[in-house]
Amino acid sequence: MTVLAEPHSSLEQARILAKAAAFAPPSPRMEDGRLDLVGLSRTELESEIREIGEQPFRARQLWHWIYHHGVRNFSECSNIAKPLQQRFSERFVISRPEVVAVEQSSDGTKKFLMRFRDGQMAETVYIPDLEDARGTVCVSSQIGCTLSCRFCHTGTQKLVRNLSAAEIVGQFMALRDFYGEWPTPQGGTPRLLSNIVFMGMGEPLYNYENVAKALRILMDGEGIGLSRRRITLSTAGVVPVMQRVGEELGVNLAVSLHAVRDSLRDELVPLNRKYPLAQLIEACRRYPGASNARRITFEYVMLRDVNDSEADAKELVRLIKGIPCKVNLIPFNPWPGSSFAPSTPEALERFAEIIMAAGYAAPVRMPRGADILAACGQLRTACGRARRADAEAKNIYCSSPFASPASASEGSIQPMLPSLRR
Ligand code: SF4
Repeated sequence: MTVLAEPHSSLEQARILAKAAAFAPPSPRMEDGRLDLVGLSRTELESEIREIGEQPFRARQLWHWIYHHGVRNFSECSNIAKPLQQRFSERFVISRPEVVAVEQSSDGTKKFLMRFRDGQMAETVYIPDLEDARGTVCVSSQIGCTLSCRFCHTGTQKLVRNLSAAEIVGQFMALRDFYGEWPTPQGGTPRLLSNIVFMGMGEPLYNYENVAKALRILMDGEGIGLSRRRITLSTAGVVPVMQRVGEELGVNLAVSLHAVRDSLRDELVPLNRKYPLAQLIEACRRYPGASNARRITFEYVMLRDVNDSEADAKELVRLIKGIPCKVNLIPFNPWPGSSFAPSTPEALERFAEIIMAAGYAAPVRMPRGADILAACGQLRTACGRARRADAEAKNIYCSSPFASPASASEGSIQPMLPSLRR
């Protein structure tokens, strides 16, 4: 007889962690033996520093240089004597992913293709606030994804591996390099990179350990210092890990809902077959820290004649009753090969009205970067094609680190996702 694990049981959590380990990122040690300091926890950094016979306060100094000043070379650490700088550079590195292509929309949204040390690539998106000198960085947590959500282009790319804490933090740091936002702005200084959402490639809760480690680094007050209020983890509904996110990290939670009946959600978000709606909604009710001040966000992509009826809207209201939440309605952005169409403006409006009449906010999240239409993952794919073609012509186009937006938007690279796709 098959015994099904309770979704919240430690057995089920252990299964998820074991699966994550099977897709582990590469070692933080370089081929030449040096260790990448980015992505180490404070304790790990201190232990490395002790190991080479130095005092723990050196770890605090390095942490400040790496995450407050954004240095990439030990020679920039001016309060560390030159011989020690030299020692550090013989043993350690301060890494960044390489930005190999940048695509820019007329609304200021920029998409970055990042290449990691092993040659794998993922996307990071910067979405500027249209009214303020602020903006959101949308990071990837995996290369590819296992979940195959039907409306998502990334879901067509099979999971290659998880990203490490260094690669996740590194996406944000590379954007700070790009936008010249070091050192960490203080007090009331506007931050261009003010928020982070985990809505790039991958399901973050299937890479929880690396994501959590990265978040602790990003939130550390002596470094990047992002407030947990400005961080949103998005999940397709990995129910057994949701509680941990609230308890251990306390960040905002976004749930990719997209359907209000199991029969449809099984199709749109196949993870629903494992953790069906009743379990998902119950996990949302129990999410630690959810309140009217910190509402859960339900993401709902509007698909014409699929999930956008009045009956769907009413059922949605019934499901979320009593949960401090809002509903983001996302107009679908078609991508080549997708079988869905966006809802009509009338259907969208009616759907939003029903939710708002029940007392919930239901903003329509207008697509950003609409002039560079494509779906999540397309830049990666297209860039791969471009590089292959160009390499043949001995003229590799997307190999220049920190390519300027202007140069990167020329040539054969196709634009990628305008949306936060969940
Ligand atoms: S929506 Fe998210 S979880 Fe679903 S396939 Fe796309 S990247 Fe994966």
